[in-house]
Amino acid sequence: MSEKGAARAGALLSVRELSVRFRMRGGREIAAVTDASFDLAPGECLALVGESGCGKSVLASALLGLLPGNARTSGSALLHGTGLDLLAADEATLARTVRGRRIGLVPQSPAGHLTAVRTVRSQLAETVRELTGLRGQELAAATRQAAERAAFPADHLDRYPHQLSGGLAQRAATALALVGDAPLLLADEPTTGLDRDLVDRTVDELRGHTRDGRGLLIITHDLRAAERVADRVAVMYAGRIVELSAAAPFFGEPGPRHPYARGLLEALPERAFTPVPGMPPELGDLPEGCAFAPRCVRASEECATVPALTGGLACHHPVPAQDVAADSERDRHRDLDRHREQDRHHEGSRA
Ligand code: SF4
Repeated sequence: MSEKGAARAGALLSVRELSVRFRMRGGREIAAVTDASFDLAPGECLALVGESGCGKSVLASALLGLLPGNARTSGSALLHGTGLDLLAADEATLARTVRGRRIGLVPQSPAGHLTAVRTVRSQLAETVRELTGLRGQELAAATRQAAERAAFPADHLDRYPHQLSGGLAQRAATALALVGDAPLLLADEPTTGLDRDLVDRTVDELRGHTRDGRGLLIITHDLRAAERVADRVAVMYAGRIVELSAAAPFFGEPGPRHPYARGLLEALPERAFTPVPGMPPELGDLPEGCAFAPRCVRASEECATVPALTGGLACHHPVPAQDVAADSERDRHRDLDRHREQDRHHEGSRA
């Protein structure tokens, strides 16, 4: 079935043909997101990946009703269990029933998200009071429990945000996101600025919260983080989802089929370490047809029309699965040759 079809049975969230346009001065229009369609199931982690500026954070803001006034949205984003279309809901409904209660947001910059002049305890208590109505001793106990759920240490609760390490600020922000027991967690670049160990720990902790049936939509440019935790991957390029795949075949065999998704993965240091040539287009000045065409070695005349996302791929000439496997084999041999060369070099220097 096309990704634009009916919502997947049992999904927490069904997004269909979500588009976002920004009206700029002089009548210019920015096509930040175009026709994005996907589902998220309970207990599932979907990673939305792509380079900076591809539209993934705008998509997240659209789901939470946090776009600026010059944005226009179309399509739908059904939050099951509420009967709500997030794109059609008014601000009062989103603030009262969605943000914090049905969708917990783990922000991009936790330190910036926390109020600098208040302790973590005070900020957590305010959120717990707001979402549960508890007071007094019960509120104090629930605040400690909220910290515990995100593994935030109780003896740091009276610290201010600037007294926290990056990892603890992240846990404080996660604790705030979990207070309302929201069935859906939306993590927007939650590992920005963290070192690799902390990235791994942070995404593992976020993934842990799906064990009780929460859905996790993680928005990241970090493919290694996505590989670590995602069940499915959606790759965005120039505002469109160009490949939507189960994570295992995407990161393993046969690998990505869309030329851009494949290039993105091959750019990783532990893979071919070869960047995708060229630069992404400006979202306010997209080329006609497939936006990846100027950078794509597989482009043909057919690519002058935009390919629809069908069967998880938006490409007129996807990389055939057997070619992907052959390329992987070539890469493995090249790695082996490189390791042998390094070994010879080390032995030579020891002699
Ligand atoms: S549609 Fe054409 S230009 Fe675009 S990625 Fe596929 S082959 Fe390349």
